[in-house]
Amino acid sequence: MANPVLPSSGALSPLGLDAVRLSPGFWGDRVALNREVTIAHCQEWMEREGWIGNFRGERPRRGREFSDSEIYKLLEAMAWAGHPELPALAETVARAQEGDGYLNTRWSGSRYTDLEWGHELYCYGHLIQAGVARLRTHGPDQLTEVAVRAADHVCRRFMDDARTCGHPEIEMALVELYRATGAERHLEMARRFVERRGLPALGEIHLGRAYFQDDLPVRRAPVLRGHAVRALYLACGAVDVAVETGDEELLKAVEAQWERTVARRTHLTGGMGSRHADEAFGDDYELPPDRAYAETCAGVASVMLSHRLLLATGDARYADLAERTLYNVVAASVALDGRSFFYANPLAVRVPAEPRTGVAGHAVGGGLRSPWFDVSCCPNNIARTLASLAAYVATGSGGDVQIHQYTPGEIRQGELTLRVETGYPWSGGVRVRVLTGGSGRISLRVPAWATGATLRYGDSEAGRLVEPGYVGVERDWRAGEEVWLELPMAARWTYPDRRIDALRGCAAVERGPLVYCAESVGDEPPLAELAVVPASPAERPSEGTVELEVEGVAGSPDSDAWPYGSQPDGAPYRWPAGGSGTALRLIPYHRWGNRGPATMRVWLPVADAVHPVPEPEPEGDAHGTSPGSRSFS
Ligand SMILES: [Zn+2]
Repeated sequence: MANPVLPSSGALSPLGLDAVRLSPGFWGDRVALNREVTIAHCQEWMEREGWIGNFRGERPRRGREFSDSEIYKLLEAMAWAGHPELPALAETVARAQEGDGYLNTRWSGSRYTDLEWGHELYCYGHLIQAGVARLRTHGPDQLTEVAVRAADHVCRRFMDDARTCGHPEIEMALVELYRATGAERHLEMARRFVERRGLPALGEIHLGRAYFQDDLPVRRAPVLRGHAVRALYLACGAVDVAVETGDEELLKAVEAQWERTVARRTHLTGGMGSRHADEAFGDDYELPPDRAYAETCAGVASVMLSHRLLLATGDARYADLAERTLYNVVAASVALDGRSFFYANPLAVRVPAEPRTGVAGHAVGGGLRSPWFDVSCCPNNIARTLASLAAYVATGSGGDVQIHQYTPGEIRQGELTLRVETGYPWSGGVRVRVLTGGSGRISLRVPAWATGATLRYGDSEAGRLVEPGYVGVERDWRAGEEVWLELPMAARWTYPDRRIDALRGCAAVERGPLVYCAESVGDEPPLAELAVVPASPAERPSEGTVELEVEGVAGSPDSDAWPYGSQPDGAPYRWPAGGSGTALRLIPYHRWGNRGPATMRVWLPVADAVHPVPEPEPEGDAHGTSPGSRSFS
């Protein structure tokens, strides 16, 4: 079966990618663009930058120490997409493999001398995932042989070693290879890599052991910490090992880590990571919108982790976070033309970025997508994720089908064939039409935000109210029957936990699964000086999407004096003459930055909450101070 993750047990069973066919729609369009544009874009850039040439022995070697992994991620994308260029690129890779299975264009000749930073095992992880993708979409060939030889080399070299790789990734890859081939040594190697981490298994580095999760054994860690992508990939591997070995304690440990990370270390968009210096999670509640790192790869990794936990437990909260992250990180990262990408995904950008065309540094402040990066992990990660996106849409076994993500398409399982018709995420109606009947349960996810959702099926006229979670209907389905889910799509204001200091006094707008933002192209409106009145947003359909309009109120900065005073800041937000604010247009966050350099913010100061709109002052005010007066010293 063709799917990136095929556990041998769990609450839910994946379907093959060919059993979920996406039609034109939000995700179907992006998957098609990825197949037709982004995959070739990535290949062209890696030729241009010499990263593919490294495998042909071209010297000097170019790219960073982990650039081999980018070719492997692209091979994985090509495998899921059925791309015709795969065999030629695989041939180039195969020629660089050494006789004992070793394969790395940077470290050949000085193998495993820097496990902390060398990324050799990390690179194998991506190679093995590409091999598994090829095996499951095509069957054994040159690429799958290269991957198995590399995995066997790793088993021989590291089974009885005490060390591991500074960047997790190989763990989940080895488990998946075990699932694909049944070779126990690959699972055992993965298990040992997970278990030895934190004992510790690596040397000291200046960023500290938590950076690469070597500070604590996985099963004892309370929360995800350190480098966000490393932490999330490791958690994926730990879930895979736990599921295949029946290790309930390990699975529960990762579930608890996920729960605390989501409660305290996750941005509204689903983005993870608050620190630029080490691309890391911050402390609990350290979630500054303008300094959010929220690397695209961390978003991809978070979706991968939530998906694994969903398969293991069947708990809708995992599909909820995957949805949030897919729409507001994965879809945001890639430009509407599929040819440029965000590496970091901040929730506020104060200064428009300078246009750029060539290779960008990866730790860019945000504001403008780049066609390529010096560390270009994100574009290929997007490519392989979109190429296998159908994996996240539905699961099923026997006569049962569970639909997790709503996008137009067809789903086949057992005797049932279903057509999903929906304008989601712009409209909330989801119609599931039975094309070929059968006996079983059709389950639909009601997202946590969807209070007031209704379900209707069979001959019933009125929908019945359904609670968030999964709602299922079991019967003998006949062709032509339908299930209707109606999700309430009114835009809603969202407020942060008060412990998130950087967001206090602000609110954001969401509609369905989408986070919205204000974007300012040029200078208007000046977002830094705007507050909003949290009244019901007005809807403005625009080019097949839905934009929103809220009431904005301009600030009145006193001066450029010392910005701290002995009184709370009472500077009023200014109501224009006539008494009402100005219309502030909000667009879906994932669409921002497609109209040129811009400023942007998701979290908006609330005029009423922090800065009361001033009433005309009564005569003889006892305090003698106006709301706007500040004392500066
Ligand atoms: Zn990345």
